This record gives sequence, structure tokens and C-alpha cells, in this order.
Amino acid sequence: MSPLLRLRAPSPVALATFIIGLVLTAMLFGLTYELETDKADLDFRRRVEGYVSDLQQGAGDAIASLQAVNQLIASVGEAGQDNFSSFTAPLLKRQPYIRAFSYHRFISSRERAMFEASMRRSHPGFVIKEFGESGWVPAATRSQYLATIYVAPFAEEKFRIGNDALYNPQRAAATWRAVEQGTPSATGIVQTILSRTNVPIFFVVMPLYRSDMPLRTAEERRAAVFGVTQAMFNARDLVGKVLGREALSIPGLEVSVYTAVAGEGEHLAFHHKAEHLEDDSVLSRLRLFGAQTLTVSESFDVGGTVWNIRISGTPATFTYSHRASLLVLVFGLLFSLAVALNRQSAAARAMHIEQLVEQRTVELGRASRDLQLRQRAIEASANAILITSASGPHFAIEYVNPAFTRITGYQSEEVIGKPFDFLCGTDHDQAGAMELRAALNSGTESQAIVRHYRKDGTLFWDNVYVAPVALAGRAATHFVVTQYDITETRRYQAELEFQANYDLLTGIANRNLLRDRVTQALTMAARHDEHVCVAFMDLDRFKFINDSLGHRAGDLFLKTIAHRLKRAARDTDTVARYGGDEFVLVLPEAEDVAESAKVVQRVMQALSRPIPINGKDFFPSCSVGIAVYPTDGEDFETLLTHADMAMYSAKEKGRNTFQFYAPNMNERAAKRLRLEGDLRRALERRELLLHYQPQVDVNSGRIVGAEALIRWQHPELGLISPSEFISLAEETGLIGAIGDWVLRTSCSQARHWEQAGLGKLRIAINLSARQFSQPNLVSMVESALADSGLSASDLELEITESTVMVDVQHAIRTLHELKSIDVHLSIDDFGTGFSSLSYLKQFPIDVLKVDQSFVRDLATDPDNAMIVMSVISLAHNLRLKVIAEGVETAEQLSYLRDNKCDQVQGYYFSKPLPADKFERFLKQELGTEA
Ligand code: C2E
Ligand code: MG
Ligand code: MG
Repeated sequence: MSPLLRLRAPSPVALATFIIGLVLTAMLFGLTYELETDKADLDFRRRVEGYVSDLQQGAGDAIASLQAVNQLIASVGEAGQDNFSSFTAPLLKRQPYIRAFSYHRFISSRERAMFEASMRRSHPGFVIKEFGESGWVPAATRSQYLATIYVAPFAEEKFRIGNDALYNPQRAAATWRAVEQGTPSATGIVQTILSRTNVPIFFVVMPLYRSDMPLRTAEERRAAVFGVTQAMFNARDLVGKVLGREALSIPGLEVSVYTAVAGEGEHLAFHHKAEHLEDDSVLSRLRLFGAQTLTVSESFDVGGTVWNIRISGTPATFTYSHRASLLVLVFGLLFSLAVALNRQSAAARAMHIEQLVEQRTVELGRASRDLQLRQRAIEASANAILITSASGPHFAIEYVNPAFTRITGYQSEEVIGKPFDFLCGTDHDQAGAMELRAALNSGTESQAIVRHYRKDGTLFWDNVYVAPVALAGRAATHFVVTQYDITETRRYQAELEFQANYDLLTGIANRNLLRDRVTQALTMAARHDEHVCVAFMDLDRFKFINDSLGHRAGDLFLKTIAHRLKRAARDTDTVARYGGDEFVLVLPEAEDVAESAKVVQRVMQALSRPIPINGKDFFPSCSVGIAVYPTDGEDFETLLTHADMAMYSAKEKGRNTFQFYAPNMNERAAKRLRLEGDLRRALERRELLLHYQPQVDVNSGRIVGAEALIRWQHPELGLISPSEFISLAEETGLIGAIGDWVLRTSCSQARHWEQAGLGKLRIAINLSARQFSQPNLVSMVESALADSGLSASDLELEITESTVMVDVQHAIRTLHELKSIDVHLSIDDFGTGFSSLSYLKQFPIDVLKVDQSFVRDLATDPDNAMIVMSVISLAHNLRLKVIAEGVETAEQLSYLRDNKCDQVQGYYFSKPLPADKFERFLKQELGTEA
């Protein structure tokens, strides 16, 4: 858009210019117009004056002709009509506005008759006439007459011969004035016969004096006068002739001529008005623009008569008067407009430039603010920022921000000019540093993690970004280098990585890393056709340590185990903590499975050394299950599941042992899963039953008690032993209901036998760990006793050694509560736990049941025999009775008897029997006794 258009409103300067232009134009126009008007007026006046002088001249000429005629009479006398006519003829011809010349002679009344007589000679019937009411009649008698003698043109005017020229008062007055003054005298426009036809006629009279008489005064001239010559004029023709056709055809010109004679008033002698042009053209209108009508009045004397001439018209009719002023106006306007437009465009240009300057100023301000902001941002940045030259090989540093100084310890002036990577020191062969150098050399951007060294020599990790800095379209002049100190982040990352892969407590691999290692080992094994052994280890009775000695002791225990495992394993093996007290040992590149078994055994052995905690030695042991790739599984999950199953199997086998995975373990696991579902319905379906095993007094050989042992009559699987479902019942919580059923059923049974007179029998019931910790245990027992009617002293509750050892304080409390209602209490499976002997004093118990594992090898293992013997003597010291379990042979019985064991229980006497069979057995025994 042009600047002119952009500026819509007129600028003040342009407006002022235009107004001044207008004013000047108007002034100039006015001036020119006035000059023109004046000139036109002047022209007009000059013309009109010309006309007037022409008229005067014309009148003068006419009078001169009359003078010539007068002269003729004066010099020649009355020379006859013919002479008069011929003399005047050329004059009349030349001056057609003269209607007639005439000569008159004064005739006194005395002379009249003689005169008339003499005239009758040439003019028969001549008589002096006067104009009366009935036309021309012989003149009345007067003292004097002025008779007409000659007339020319005679043919037209001959009727005037003899007429008294004094009959008309106007003519008479002019005559006497002429006579007295001796000059030609004119009348005004007279009323003659002719004038009735509306022809403006006037007469000029010239006196003729006798030459011998004095003419000094009017009297003398009156006395000397003898006649007059007259000329009759047509005023209209005179004026018309003198002005000419040309003058009279000027459009709009109006000419009026009046004669004025004292005492007569004015008479119109001539009037003419030319029509305006019927022209509507622009030019003609322009010509008449501003035209004014001017009237010029002049007077002059014609034979003592005043002629008033009035000429009016528009000066413009002579000259086009206002051309110049109109031109001035038009050009002035155009010029003003042009100059104003020029000013306007200049103003618009100026404004445009002003706006540009303003805009640039704002932009510059903004740019400089932006620049300052960026500068401040760079200086405020928490990360080190460097600007280096783009010229190799050093790419010298040109700027560093305060963060650089803060991080590296180098002041700005110490580093300016140094190579961009001087922070690497002598460590410049790092991959990251080389990558950055390559990027700078090729002028591209890049990022790398680099080891840098502070001024004090300490190492830190920098994540470095380099980017070329170039102005649009040019080659890079600088590089901007940003350094992020990621030392902390790396440390944190490493920590996270460690946490993700290592067990925090023990510092050995965790599940994550285990999975990686196993997967890795499997890949390698697949490639080299090797075996991989995965050993799943579960610490035996760790829960007990943790619960009884506290978590710190438990942690210490686990740490020690982990440490021992690590040391015992080979470098290529992986030791991982899988969770809780579970560890996994991975043995890759196993050529021989037997070899791996040896390694596992060695590891187990290494673990078994006692661990001193709180001043006491604990003997750790573990159960281990082993799964082998590729036979037992081809992936981590399968191998681990199978190893876990094998571990369970090892546990069932009696702990502190290892077991290879066998496919039937899988079935057992599946069976366990199925049993879980069935067990829930077993109670309602009355599938549970109790068998009773007699307890025999060693000395008397009498049955003193019976242990109730649960069985499950499964509709499809047959009779299932408690070792297969009690732990399941514990896990599922079903043990509560089952335990209650056992309690009530056995109490009722005992009471029944008692009432049946089968003797006094103490019934023993097994309490599982979970039952033992049930809060309502005591009330449950009381209720069962009350409902059955059995006395409390006839009920014995068996709690395994490991159960009481889970939480000794709680065990002591619970045992006391149970004791308070007077039931018998026994510790079952005694000898399998650790260090429990010291607590025995605090337990309010009645019986110790020596575990059958000791009894089994009594005859062959002297150690076991020693243990049994010490347990018996210890129990007796504590006033406890001792029952030996699992007595199968007479030898065992005799050894126990020799060592003063109180009671025995075992197949040697009887297997556990259903109630009816037990009853029969009981009656049989009673019978033999009896
Ligand atoms: P326990 O209390 O130690 O029971 C003795 C176990 O030894 C019984 O196994 C019994 O049949 C077996 N036994 C007895 N004499 C001999 C022998 O001369 N030789 C051999 N080899 N074994 C003998 P059973 O009935 O299979 O019970 C196993 C365990 O299940 C019991 O060990 C007990 O801890 C638990 N149990 C049994 N019934 C119940 C119950 O009603 N409630 C709870 N909580 N646990 C029970
Ligand atoms: Mg028992
Ligand atoms: Mg037992």
C-alpha cells in the first residue's frame, strides 16, 4: 500500500498548504478579476466616449452643412430655388439624416402684401400661411412673419413654401435664440406633422444678417437679421448613421438620446437596444461570468440644445474580461491541490518512516531485552554452559557461566582460551570425549557422558551436549556446550540398579538378578549342550529363630547364611535370596549332575556349622530341592517351581536333606491342591475319624492312656494320614473347626469308655501350632470337657516342641492358663527342637514325649541312646513323666524300661485303632489282666 493511501486523514501541513493555496488563489483571483473588471469598464467607457464624440462630430458636421447653406445665401443672396436645390442636393445626399434645408426671410406686416405679390410671380397663389386648426391657412396679420422661401428637396417639401416658420413655438424660440446669439440654434425634438408619425425631428436654425449693420449686441443682431436658414434633422437617422450598424449590433447595448431644452423638458431622440445573444454555450456563459451592466451618460451641446446620451451595456460584450482571472482561479486551485497532495504524500512518507523507526526501536528494545534475559538465564543456569570457538583443533573456550566455576572450581579467566575438553585432563581417550570431538570437527550436535575432573582433581560425571551456533544460513561460528553434572544421578542409578538386582539385607543377588542369571545360563547351556542345576534351599525352622530371638537376630542369621553360601559356591555359581529364608543356588555349566549334588552337599555342610546368637549356638540346616535343565524344565519358572517341589519333598523327608525333582512330585503337588478343596467339605460329610493308640505304663504293663490321631476317609483316595492334610488345614484355617471336632469327639469317647467301665484312661490330643495360639483355646477346652462330662485331669494336650518354641513367652502364658483348669500337658516330639531344655523349667508341663526318631535307632546308635537316657533323667529331675513314641521292638522296650522311661507308645503294643477296635483291644487287655 502506498504511504499516501495509508494516511487517510489529511495531514495538518497538507491541509494548511491547501487552505493557504485557496486563500492566495482567491486573493489573486480577486485582484485579477478587479483589474479585468476595471479594464473592461475602461474599455467600455472609452468606446462609449467614442460614440459620444462621434455623435457630437456628426451633429457638428450637420450644423457645418447648414452653415454652408447659410453662407450660400449670405454671399449669393436669393439666387433662386433651383440654385438652392442644386447646392443642397449633395449635402442631403451625403447626410441622409438631414430631411430638409430651407431658407426663410423675415417679412414685416408692411412688406407682406408686396412680398406675397412678388412671390406669386414664381409661385402663383402664394400667400404667407400659418398652421391653424384646419391645417395651413393664410397667416393672420402680425408684425412680422418668417416666410419660407426655398426648400430642398423641393419635390418633397414644396408645400412649405410660404409657410411661416415661426408658427411653432419651439422653432420660434430656437430662431430668436439664433438671431440674438448669432449662432446656430437647435430645437429639441419637435411636435410636427411628421413627428406624429413618430419620427424624432429637430431643427437647427442659423441667422442671416445684413452685412452693413453692426452685430455687437442682441439688439443690433435683431435689427440686422433678415432671414434664417434651417435644417430639419431626423434625430434617429442621425444617431443611427453616426454610430453605425456595427456599434448598434453589439449584443445587449442600449443607447438612448434625449434632447433637453430649458422649459421644454426632455424628448427622446433615439433609442436602441440590441438583443442579447441567444447562446447557451459554456464559453458564452463564461464570458458573461460576473458581467455587470454599465451605464455611461454624457451630454453635449447641439446648437444650444443639450443632448443627453445614455449608453448602457456589459463591458464583457467588448472583451472577454475574466479569462485571466478564471485561469488564475483554475490554475491556482490545481496548483494548491497539487502542492497539498505533495505535502500530504510527504507527510505520509514522513509518518511511515516515523512508524518504521518506532517499530524498529520497539523491536530493538525487545531484542535487547531478550538478549539480556538470555544472558541472565545462562548465568543463572544451574548447569555449566560454555561457549567455544568453532575453529579446531582446540575449539577454545570463549565463555563460561558462573555454574561452571561453581561446579569445576575454575575461574572464568583460568579457562578462557583453553581447549573445550580440558576438563578431561589426561583422561581424554574416553569414548564420550572422542564422540564430542568428532561432532565438533564435523560441525554437528552431539551428546555424551564424560568423566571430568575438577580443579581439585576430583572426578565427576558430566552429561555433555554440544551444538553449533550459527547465524541464519551461515557456517557455525561457535559451539554451545552444556554440561549436566550427573554424578549424583549416576550414584543414585547405581543404587537403584543394585536395589533392583541385589538383596539389601544380605547383599547377594535377588530374584531379578536370579532370573537374569538363570536365563543367561540356560542360553549358554543350550548352546553348549550342558546342564544347569537350580537348587532351592529353605532354612529349617528359621521362623522359630526369627520369632523367638527377634528380627535382628533373624537378620544376622540370614546374613551369616548368605555369606557362607557365597563362600561355599564357586565363582561361576549364583547365590540368590529368593525371599524370607529361601535361597537359590544356580550351578551352570554342569557336566555331571552327580557333581552338582556334591557341590550342594558341600554347601549344606558349610551352612551347618553353629551360629552363635545372643551367646547361644544355633545349628542351621536347610532342605534343598534340585531341578536340572533340560530334564526338569527349560525355563526359569518351571525349573524354580520344580526345585521348590523337590524342596518340599526334602522337608517331608525330615529336613536337613536334599532331594532331586521327580515327576511324581508334580502329582503330589496337584493332589495337595485337590485335597485342599475336598478338605473344606470333609467335616460336613463326616469323612474325618479318630484312631486311638494306647499308651502303656512300662512297669505295670497296663494301658493308662490313649492318643487320638486323626484320619481322613476320602471317598476316592481312601484313608489319608494326618501328615498329608494337617499342614493343609493349618494353612487354610480349617484347623480351628477340625481341632474342635477332635477335642469334642475324643472327650466324648473317653467319657463313654469311662462310663462303660473300661477303666480310667487319660485321652491325649494333639494341638497344632495354630490351635495353640488361638485366643479362645482355654474356653474351647473347658466347653468340650463340660459338654462331655470328662474331668480335666483325664485330658492331656500334646504340643510339639517346635510349637512352644515359636514364642516362648506366649507359650508359657498359654500353658499356665491351660494348667489352671487342671488338664495334663505334654511336649510332643521332644528332642527335635533346639535349646529347649533351658525353658522346660518354666513350662508347667506334666509329660515329655521323646520323639520316635530317637527311639528308632536306640539299639544301633549309641548317641541316640545317650540322648534318650539324658532326656529321661532330666525330665525326672523336673518331676516330669516321660513317654517314648514309636516303640516297635522288645529291645527298645527293654532299654527304655532299664532307663526308667515311664510310658511307651508304639506298634509293639498296637497301631492306632478305630474306636470300636480300640474298645475291643481295651476289653481284651482288661480280660487278660483280670
Ligand atoms: P505324633 O503326635 O507324634 O503321633 C505319633 C505318630 O507315630 C502317629 O502317626 C502314629 O501312628 C505313629 N506311631 C505310633 N507308634 C509307632 C511305631 O511303633 N512306629 C512308627 N513308625 N510309627 C508309630 P500318625 O497317626 O500318622 O500321626 C502323625 C502326626 O500327625 C502325629 O504325630 C501328630 O503330630 C499329628 N496328628 C495326628 N492326629 C492329630 C490331630 O488330631 N490333631 C493334630 N493337630 N495333629 C495330629
Ligand atoms: Mg502326638
Ligand atoms: Mg510325636
